[in-house]
Parts: sequence; structure tokens; C-alpha cells
Amino acid sequence: MPDQEREMIPPAKPHIGEAEIEAAVAVLRSGRVVQGPEVAAFEEEFTEVSGTAECVAVNSGTSALQLALMAMGVGPGDEVIVPSFSFAASANAVRLVGAEPVFADIEPDSYCIDPDAVTALIGPRTVAIMPVHLYGHPADMARLTALAQRHSLAILEDACQAHGAQVDGKPVGSFGVAGTFSFYPTKNMHALEGGMVSTDDPKLARTLRLLRNQGMEQRYANEIVGANMRMTDVAAAIGRVQLRQLAGWTEQRRDNAARLDAGIAQVDGVVAPPVPAGARHIYHQYTVRIPSGRDAALEQLNAAGIGSAVYYPIPIHKLIPYAHMGVDLPETDRAAAEVLSLPVHPSLSDGDLDRIIAAVRALELPQ
Ligand SMILES: *Cc1c(COP(=O)(O)O)cnc(C)c1O
Repeated sequence: MPDQEREMIPPAKPHIGEAEIEAAVAVLRSGRVVQGPEVAAFEEEFTEVSGTAECVAVNSGTSALQLALMAMGVGPGDEVIVPSFSFAASANAVRLVGAEPVFADIEPDSYCIDPDAVTALIGPRTVAIMPVHLYGHPADMARLTALAQRHSLAILEDACQAHGAQVDGKPVGSFGVAGTFSFYPTKNMHALEGGMVSTDDPKLARTLRLLRNQGMEQRYANEIVGANMRMTDVAAAIGRVQLRQLAGWTEQRRDNAARLDAGIAQVDGVVAPPVPAGARHIYHQYTVRIPSGRDAALEQLNAAGIGSAVYYPIPIHKLIPYAHMGVDLPETDRAAAEVLSLPVHPSLSDGDLDRIIAAVRALELPQ
């Protein structure tokens, strides 16, 4: 077996190139290291991705969610409808501002929040809906937006996995009152750590800027109670270098996904991710459904050197902080038992893609 055959193809490969390193060093030499010119430029440039008038940079995607909820006035006594099939941060942010997440089930095809399930959960305390554009696939924003309008609810989009995803040409992060992005290393672009809130509302943007910096615009003239969730200029400088590569990386991810789609289309027992007309999936994850024998498939793929993983094996409503709520979400549970993500990142070679496809074709699944 040639060496390359034995090498593990990682599930994600965060990129830190010479340009990122040079940009970081330049900031360190400049002495302007926090909330400075790089952060301002990054915010301005990221509006291209979010399609909003404003972007406000913070120190993580979780901070972006928490700060957006605070700026929207969500707090104790309020309920926010969220999917359970997501990273825990989606619900944690709601709890962190003292509100309660109410878990809605998902659509089986997109893995995103089901508008019908949301409708059934709207009550007197509901103030907002938080769709998560899971795996880089946009949630059904047309129906969710109509629903939110009908019930006078706010939408906060968790676009932490969906930089550049779109519905009918409109970017995610621009549908709701606000959207949030993460720049954690494994996301489609990173800033070591970091986050962004997108919004078209200048008043909300100003509140966000106050909240991330102790409530100050002018130094020591604190206007409101705020936190410290500032982004460093080192992070912003790295983020800006990454942002210039995002469009190319996204095309590569989409090409890789198309190759995987074609390669596994005929494989019995493995369902490729469907994408409805009008949706632009940016494949943060390429996630297949294996209704019978997912765990066996995971083991076989990893043994073949294909770094596969399950996002998320335990849905949020079954995690310790939320399990007492006792909610029942059949599609969420089914997805958690059946999904598996294959490598789709832009550093995959043609040979890697061939190996991934061959390994999926060679799976021995229980009947
Ligand atoms: C990564 C992620 C977050 C949190 O982002 P961090 O930058 O890690 O804090 C929130 N929601 C979703 C769906 C994510 O994938």
C-alpha cells in the first residue's frame, strides 16, 4: 500500500498560511492590538458576506449570539424557539441571557428547524425564533420570516456554520433582526477565535458596540452595563486574510460536494444531502444519512483513513443542562442516530475524494 493510502484524511483542516502569520505579526509590531483598525476593516469587509449594512465583531460566535440576544432585549421570562439538533452554543446563548430555549424539531432533509414545529410552539412568552443554518445549509427563511411577521417575533439567525450560504441569492445573516457568524478554526473561515453579528439596524449595531465594550463609546463614559467581548486586531487581521480566500474555498467545497454526490449516488443505504432549488449550501459539513448501521459505517470509514465524524451525536435537549425539560423530538433523535459527515474541506485532493468515495462504496452495512 503506498504511503498516501495509509494517511488519515482529516475531517477538517484549519488553514494558517504565511499570509495569516505575516498579518498577525504586523499587528503585533504595530502596537494597535485590540479593537483597532484591523477590526474596523474586518467589520466593513464582512458586510459583503452577510449582505447587511453593519457588522459588529466580537470574540466568538457564542458571544455574538449572546450579545445579539441582549441587544434585542431578550431576557428572563422570555422564550426563544431553537432547534435541538445543533451545537450547544445555540441554546446556551439563550440561557446565558436568562431566557429559556424552547426546542423545535427539524426537517429531515435539511436538518434545519421545521417551521411547522415552530408554529406549534409559539406561546405568550415567545419573543424570537433562532434558526440555525446547520452544516452550511440555509434554513427555510421564506416560511420562517412569514411566521415571525405573523406573530410579531424577532428572528436571530445562527449562521455560525454558514458563511456565504444563500436563499434565492440573499445571504444568510441578512434575513433576521440579526445574524451571527463564528470564526473558530474549524469553520469555513477563521480568526483563531472570533465572531460577528450582522444587522441592518443601526441602533442595534450601536447597542452591540456598547455591549461588547463595557457599555462605552467614549472611554470611561459608560452608558449601559456591558461585557468585554472585544475582538483583537490579531484575530481581525487573520480573519481579513481568510476572508479574501473564502469565495475560492467555498467553490472548492461545493465542487467537492458535487463529486461526492455523484460518487455515492448509487450506494444503497447512504443518502446524500438534498439541496432544494434556490438554496446555496456552502458545505461546512457534507453530511449523509445512513438509516441502518451508521455507527458501523463510522468505524469502517475511520479504519479506512477517512476522518468521518458525527455532528451531533447527542442533541441539545438530551444534554445535562436541558434534559430535565423532557421534550420529545423524533426527527432530531433520528438524525442524531443516522448522520455522518464526510471530509469536504478545500484541502482535499482528487485522490482524497476518490478514496472517500471508494470507502463509502465499500461500506458493509447491516441489512
Ligand atoms: C461554532 C458554532 C457556534 C459557536 O461559535 P464559537 O465561535 O465556537 O463560539 C454557535 N452555533 C453553531 C451552530 C456553531 O457551529
